[in-house]
Amino acid sequence: MKFGVMIKEVLPHLTKTPNTILYPFQRVPVPEAFRGKPVLDTEKCRGCAKCACEIICPAEACKKISIGDCIDRLAFWYDRCIYCGECAERCPFDAVTMTHEFELAAYDTESLYAHPEQPQSEEALAIIEKARERKKLQAQKAAEAKKAAEEKKDAEEKKDAPPAEDKE
Ligand code: SF4
Ligand code: SF4
Repeated sequence: MKFGVMIKEVLPHLTKTPNTILYPFQRVPVPEAFRGKPVLDTEKCRGCAKCACEIICPAEACKKISIGDCIDRLAFWYDRCIYCGECAERCPFDAVTMTHEFELAAYDTESLYAHPEQPQSEEALAIIEKARERKKLQAQKAAEAKKAAEEKKDAEEKKDAPPAEDKE
């Protein structure tokens, strides 16, 4: 490329703000629906005989393991995980949550294994707590909607019922 042509290309960009940031010193918040590493809420996991997450996982990255006498819980292998979110979608007890954690580079594969009883990071705990709250709110709203529908049905039935005959 000729120098003159190059200068024409470069000069306008010297006055513009850059499109990139100085990661990791600068960060941008990830979108709410971002799928980072999946984590298990051990309180919710029931160790189902047929774990839907284990069955659906396309990368064989999660598997139910025994953690005590007759207690099974889900473990993750993040070096295999493709962060598709299927496990979180399919768990019937909402025991799996996708966090916003994505900086998972490690020197060894062992550190990318998550035993069910392994303590979670602050961020993962906060997201688990948020998921619990969301679930509670959804259940509350569903119960309220059900109650309102029942009340409406009762009111309509009463309205449509024939008037009681006058006693002589
Ligand atoms: S992760 Fe979900 S589907 Fe799998 S064993 Fe636990 S509760 Fe059951
Ligand atoms: S996010 Fe996808 S690949 Fe990772 S453990 Fe869940 S189902 Fe498997």
